[in-house]
Amino acid sequence: MSTVRDGLPVSEGISFGPVRILRWGVPDVPHETIGEEQIESEVARFHEARDWAQRRLLEIQEGTEERLGSLEARIFEPQLLMLEDTEVLEGTERYIRENRLTAARAFHWRMLELQALWVRTANPMVLDRLNDLEDLMSRVLRRLLGLPEPGDMTGNGDPAILVARNITPSLTVQMDPEHTLGIATEQGTRTSHWAILARSMGIPAVAGLVDLTGLTEDGEQAIVDGRIGRIVLNPDERDRRVYQQRKVRIREWEDELAAIARLDAVTLDGQPVALRANLDIPAEAHRAVEHGAEGVGLFRTEFLVVGRSSMPQEEEQYEAYRQVADAFPNRAVVIRTFDLGGDKFPMFLHMPAEENPFLGWRAIRVCLDRLELFRPQLRAILRATAHGDVRILLPLVNDVEEVVRVRELLSEEEDRLRRDGIPFHSGYKLGILVETPAAALDAAELARHCDFFSIGTNDLVQYTLAVDRTNARLSNLYNPFHPSVVRQIHQVSRVARAAGIEVSVCGELAANPLGAFLLLGLDITALSVAWPSLPEVKKVIRSFRIEVAREAARKALAAPTSAAVTSCLVEGLGDAVDLSAFSGRWSLSIPS
Ligand code: PEP
Ligand code: MG
Repeated sequence: MSTVRDGLPVSEGISFGPVRILRWGVPDVPHETIGEEQIESEVARFHEARDWAQRRLLEIQEGTEERLGSLEARIFEPQLLMLEDTEVLEGTERYIRENRLTAARAFHWRMLELQALWVRTANPMVLDRLNDLEDLMSRVLRRLLGLPEPGDMTGNGDPAILVARNITPSLTVQMDPEHTLGIATEQGTRTSHWAILARSMGIPAVAGLVDLTGLTEDGEQAIVDGRIGRIVLNPDERDRRVYQQRKVRIREWEDELAAIARLDAVTLDGQPVALRANLDIPAEAHRAVEHGAEGVGLFRTEFLVVGRSSMPQEEEQYEAYRQVADAFPNRAVVIRTFDLGGDKFPMFLHMPAEENPFLGWRAIRVCLDRLELFRPQLRAILRATAHGDVRILLPLVNDVEEVVRVRELLSEEEDRLRRDGIPFHSGYKLGILVETPAAALDAAELARHCDFFSIGTNDLVQYTLAVDRTNARLSNLYNPFHPSVVRQIHQVSRVARAAGIEVSVCGELAANPLGAFLLLGLDITALSVAWPSLPEVKKVIRSFRIEVAREAARKALAAPTSAAVTSCLVEGLGDAVDLSAFSGRWSLSIPS
């Protein structure tokens, strides 16, 4: 009998093979004390291990840069910083000297203390940082205890699907994609550092598979489907056939998509749609162009800060923004100001631990409090306006005052640029992400102060339903087709139309076929999706008439449950689209 488990899709691809369970955890450290005469030699041993770990990490970082690029290489910065952190170094030395602990025990204690401190924040991004901490702890302790390095466990042996409680970035980059058929873990999310690396390396991966390591054993056959976030353990002949066919169909579909990228994004009856791309780094701009993006609807800028040891300079930012603007001449390029906090913490801000970081010091709130961070960003974006239709997007806005304050800051920075003779285009647009119920309900007031709205459904769903978007256990409850969400989107769309400002959607909902159909039906004709989804969404848009979408949306607005909303959309879309080939969690295609 096969066993099927669903988790989070974190890296695309379908693979078949035997399971290998990775038991890489932090090694057991015996509790041993030392005599006074050993203190100096233990301190020296600790420093030797630290220096060695630093060298190894730098080597791994260098190798990563060569193989995958500089952005991926930066993933190791937090660990390198920890190795220089006086709290780690002095704390460990103190335990050796004052508590007469061995170097391994002292380092272990110090790291456990830090871990306990971080765990208390109960925040999902800290889980990613904890993952970095465990990676480092394991490396240094293995050196001190004379055990093999963590990476030694991944590469050799026959090709396999690696199963683990959790995995670390350094383990991932040491995997040989020829031997690693797939990765399946209990913990982690799409934004975990190891998941980002797995995507860059093209290894299919699924995270958030609750209790997985207890369900399988070494050598058991499995199928990993990273497109829908599923593992099938002990598959039978029928399972194998289904997933083989799926693999073939997805390949055919991708060939077809390449042709679609060149077509216009219009409905069957000619309603044009501004189909733009979401970018996380500037290097994605050319991929977005290839995939037929009509501009950038959301350029996230956190790559400039997360995992960095110092604030990004204006010049570096300007270059990044300009690079994207240059890739899209005469097209909208919407740059979102730093969306920090929540699950993204730059080290240099020393953000306080919070009980509820998603309800805490986040996004525009951080920027308005830390002008030394915000002003250079505004200046860099203003300078980029000289290179195209560059627009500014503010995340997590709830209040008109926040927009008014940003306008004041912008006007001050414009004056400075003028004084310094630096060019910019003064007709740029300023908009907000509507991603809280407060903003959706107060949209009419906010519209008077904004040039455009972009609805961030990823957060809007989380805040409306009170469901943490990063909690794998709650992924069934995180439903963007909930009637309360549909009604808010409708309300924001109506308000924007009445105010004569553009409204777009840049959350994942826009990349879902039923979502795109619904949004067009709600008269939202600007969508922004991750660049790989562009052709898929375009194909959907080209498959129906706008009146049909409007009719389905009207019915969906009156539907009492999420399931009823989905049914209205499925019915409305009819056979126009083969939903079975699509990626995404709400896809109806998931084989049963
Ligand atoms: C959103 O919240 O929908 C959004 C697009 O922003 P992010 O996913 O970066 O929070
Ligand atoms: Mg958001």
